[in-house]
Amino acid sequence: MGEQSETDADSLRAPIEICDRCRMRARLRVVLDDDGLLYFCSQHAREHRAALEQVARSMEEIPDWTDELGRGGDDGRDDRLVVG
Ligand SMILES: [Zn+2]
Repeated sequence: MGEQSETDADSLRAPIEICDRCRMRARLRVVLDDDGLLYFCSQHAREHRAALEQVARSMEEIPDWTDELGRGGDDGRDDRLVVG
């Protein structure tokens, strides 16, 4: 009884993009002037940002799905300091 299917949001989810440099989950999609596409994780996006801004036609941040998949990720450190 009550076999209601849940929302189909799951099937609408975008495929996971991978950083071109280190194969981590990408957080930044860069469209180049010649229609080329590059993907960077948060770390490499930060590292190459200055250079990318000069060659990119557009840059788009990719939403972070890792929260839903559990902990961990490229910079999934727990930075909370518990003192006293
Ligand atoms: Zn990377």
